[in-house]
Amino acid sequence: MSSYTNGGVVVVVDEMEKRERSAGGHLVLLPCPLQGHMNPMLHLANLLHSKGFSITIVHTQFKSPNPSGYPSDINFKSIPDGLSKDQEDDLVSLLLNLNLNCEAPVRDFLLQMQSNRSGQEPFLGIIHDASLYFVSAIADDMKLPRFAFKTNNMTFYVGYLLTTQKGCHPIKDEELEEPVFVLPFLKIKDLPEVKSSDLHIQVGKMVDATRTATAVICNTLKQLEQNALPMFQQDLSIPVFLVGPLHKYSISPPTTATDRSCISWLDTQAPSSVIYISFGSLVTISGSELVEMAWGLANSKKNFLWVVRPSSVHNSQWVELLPKEFEELITNGRGRIVKWVPQQEVLAHPAIGGFWTHSGWNSTLESITEGVPMLCSPRFGDQRINARLVSCVWGVGIQIENDGMERGLIEKSIRRVMVDKEGMEMKRRAMDLKEKIEISLNKGGSSYVASEKLKFFIKNG
Ligand code: UDP
Repeated sequence: MSSYTNGGVVVVVDEMEKRERSAGGHLVLLPCPLQGHMNPMLHLANLLHSKGFSITIVHTQFKSPNPSGYPSDINFKSIPDGLSKDQEDDLVSLLLNLNLNCEAPVRDFLLQMQSNRSGQEPFLGIIHDASLYFVSAIADDMKLPRFAFKTNNMTFYVGYLLTTQKGCHPIKDEELEEPVFVLPFLKIKDLPEVKSSDLHIQVGKMVDATRTATAVICNTLKQLEQNALPMFQQDLSIPVFLVGPLHKYSISPPTTATDRSCISWLDTQAPSSVIYISFGSLVTISGSELVEMAWGLANSKKNFLWVVRPSSVHNSQWVELLPKEFEELITNGRGRIVKWVPQQEVLAHPAIGGFWTHSGWNSTLESITEGVPMLCSPRFGDQRINARLVSCVWGVGIQIENDGMERGLIEKSIRRVMVDKEGMEMKRRAMDLKEKIEISLNKGGSSYVASEKLKFFIKNG
């Protein structure tokens, strides 16, 4: 017997199971080195490992994942990427450079791996983040099955299609509030903006790499996106496996900055009394937004757990710009400000009554999976679309419109979600959604069946 620890839980691996696993075949997984992309790929690795496949995760040196917390027979292989530390500041150039710089080292690694494999279990294919379109040329040349993994949802994919059809022309002001014809719960302003011709070309390559894959794996479930599902399937016309929410298969291993003391603080709080605030791993805010957020929280009278990432507030290291009077609230026990939390555990904590989020897809899934209603402050990318799903389709939250970071509006919005009758209705719907998700993950449920079909498809084609 051997063992590994995941989220504090010791998982014992049977040697017999290990031998059976090596008979299952080998898969190479290629994540994109952004937190919101890496986490779901690692959860997918755990899911496929539990289904008997042996797994190698090929990752960049930039933002390399922490292998502790994963089974010891999942291999982690780092490749040179030529990326600099500040690359995350410009996502468009990060994606471009990843696709330019990683093709040669990934190709070399795969060719070498294949030549050393004689007598070993079959190499069944590559699963790559859909944004890493360079993989398609390698898989074609090596005649390997290729699975595009979409870490965001189907509605966003359809949104991208609609945007690219328009070309890279800026959206006119008078169009912004118009509903999107095929998905009327969205407004034109929610669609992802493709401002430059460079980005337009890149998005086109991502869409092509998705369309030409052997199959697509998506971190969503069909119950959440009935509107986009038919358009998604029609555009792709290849097998699609909706296996989400993947974070239910494992807990993300903590990073060095994770502050676990917040869990013991939450243990002292009344049920559903605390609002949790986090804007994910990429969003940055101005100093004045930080101050407005602080006063909105203070005036809402609700207790809070607030994640502020170091350097995420413009022109400051951390929270030095907060007024002294606000810091007194913290000294008096009204709230905690921390740098990074174990978010899945926080959202599952009974003390959490609401989540003020930037509406990243992982955060959205993690929240609905725990039945936590949301206050949404989307900024870019897929976030505006996710916020509309939350507020207009599922009815489990509200959106602060027009990036409204004003203390009075924030106070009112927090009370709408956490105190008012309207908020109680959101909570009820969020609990219904939680139950639907649990059913989909249990034996016979849609995500469970999709993951079984995926296993069969990978093995048998
Ligand atoms: N996260 C976390 N601790 C934090 C804040 C965020 O573990 O303090 C995780 C969160 O659980 C989620 C990911 O970081 O899995 C953020 O992904 P998301 O898609 O929500 O947003 P992004 O960071 O990509 O904008």
